[in-house]
Amino acid sequence: MKPIAVQVGSVTVGGNAPVSIQTMWKKPLTRVDEGLIAEVNRLVTLGCDILRFAVPDEASAVALGLLSERVSIPLVADIHFDYRLALKCLEYPIAKIRINPGNIGARWKVEEVVKKALDRKVPIRIGVNHGSLPRKFQDFSDPAKALVAAAEEEIDILESLSFRSIIVSMKSSDTTSTVEANRLFASRHSYPLHIGITEAGPLIPGLVRSTLALSELLKEGIGSTVRISLSDSPETEVLAARELLNALGLRKGGIRIVSCPRCGRSGFDVPGFLEIVGDRLHQDSRDLTVAIMGCVVNGPGESRHADLGITGSGDKVVIFKKGKVVRTVHPEEAAEAFLKELESL
Ligand code: SF4
Repeated sequence: MKPIAVQVGSVTVGGNAPVSIQTMWKKPLTRVDEGLIAEVNRLVTLGCDILRFAVPDEASAVALGLLSERVSIPLVADIHFDYRLALKCLEYPIAKIRINPGNIGARWKVEEVVKKALDRKVPIRIGVNHGSLPRKFQDFSDPAKALVAAAEEEIDILESLSFRSIIVSMKSSDTTSTVEANRLFASRHSYPLHIGITEAGPLIPGLVRSTLALSELLKEGIGSTVRISLSDSPETEVLAARELLNALGLRKGGIRIVSCPRCGRSGFDVPGFLEIVGDRLHQDSRDLTVAIMGCVVNGPGESRHADLGITGSGDKVVIFKKGKVVRTVHPEEAAEAFLKELESL
């Protein structure tokens, strides 16, 4: 079913909105200062649309509330166990509450949160995780059906209070269960889905497993917002999600980097160069292709096809812009010359 649109602060999730990117803050949130705000804003420049914070205690709830008054990106309060923390967060302009049906407790506690969210016009994500399913769903032989049943039970509570600003996630560390649960849910409901593989793992397995499951769903039009959960930094999660959505043609903007994998012919330190310029490239929202190549075998060709290219050639590097050679410089001057050409594009 086509998902309904749910407003999460300034970001629309579902409806005709593009698939949005989320990540989660990975440190305790104790105080709000300029350093924290700068880090949050950096995630925005990398392409993060929605940012979630764990709220394990009242101090975190207050800090999140204060932060939400000082940044423009929609902030989400992630609540487990103590419904009163959700109520506290709702005193501030946070953009969404996430509750986990497996550990939020009695129905009346959920109702308290729903009533206040309704009053404050804040959406709720029902975030079901296979690792913390409510007890009665744990014996299901089909994990996908268990995830959907747990979500549906919680939806019933919210709908009984006329609450419809609902986003749902059903995540497992198993890719098949996650895909099947989301497919089943999407065939029955029109609430937008936040999709992801939970506890997907360290960088490489996490990327592979998330890409496998999420691309399957996204190609079927399932999934309105994504998080790639990695045992890595929030920045990496955002860049990974961005790359996935760009590759699937679901998002535009941001520099596409073509780079050679290196071999014995390489006359240019491509990984070293990427270390220097990578951050600058990742923060550029223009829809451009950049080629960073090691030698003259494929370097000139790829560089000519890119908006901006650089390739090793003997003891020099050659810079191409829009298909034409514009500079030949010593490798030590490469980064500065390349970034200058990038600015002028
Ligand atoms: Fe090797 Fe050159 Fe191809 Fe890079 S571009 S992988 S250095 S042949």
